[in-house]
Amino acid sequence: MNVYKQMKLDEKLFLEILNKHPKILFIFDYDGTITELVRDHNEAKLTNDETAILNKLSKAPNTKVSIVTGRALDNLKFLLANRLDESILLYGTHGAEAGKAVTDDEKVRKPLEEIRDLLKEEKNIFFEDKPISLTVHYKDHHDKNDLIFRLEKVAEIYSELFRVQQGHQVFEFLPKHINKGLAISDLHSKFKDFYPIFFGDDLTDNFGFKVINQINGLSVQVGERISEREAGYLIGKVEDTYKLINLYLKKQERQ
Ligand SMILES: [Mg+2]
Repeated sequence: MNVYKQMKLDEKLFLEILNKHPKILFIFDYDGTITELVRDHNEAKLTNDETAILNKLSKAPNTKVSIVTGRALDNLKFLLANRLDESILLYGTHGAEAGKAVTDDEKVRKPLEEIRDLLKEEKNIFFEDKPISLTVHYKDHHDKNDLIFRLEKVAEIYSELFRVQQGHQVFEFLPKHINKGLAISDLHSKFKDFYPIFFGDDLTDNFGFKVINQINGLSVQVGERISEREAGYLIGKVEDTYKLINLYLKKQERQ
């Protein structure tokens, strides 16, 4: 989608859209969408206020809430620390883990170990191991372009098995068929009569946005960090995600 076709989603427009749909399915990416991006991967935690808003949303009538993250499900659960309502549906590893963690898959485990091995001499990167994928974090690397060049070479070797998912200072080797669109499709099939709204901020979310657009839901890009955008609508930052949720909650209270 051409970036210039993205519309700013202000409060008035959001209310107009909400008024057309009595049941709403809210789907959120995690990092950069409902939590601020932070330096330490394991410190991306919801604030108390954010937690309270999401819990309130989960209890609103005619409302479903889901979080779809590239993080492993166990890692997401660690960050949430049981503070979110159980009714909020959690998807990890871009949708590959739906509700429960997947065990590793023999077919991908060995090649992922090989990839890790090929990269073991690299300095200033860290690996995020997930059951069926491997994410290389490189925010502290001194020559990112050079590193990405080498990562792409490795990716070429394994291109039959994995696609590469680039995100915010991350390079992920992910089984070819896995992307956030799967989670969105799964949610849509579970809650067919709910109008789906997906908020995301990163390249990984484009897969989800594409599916949302196909099913005529609302796709909302948070922030302008990425230039390749599939979402139809744009908001400025994480704070704006919560502003729109609060607007929805207020509208519900009036009903
Ligand atoms: Mg994100």
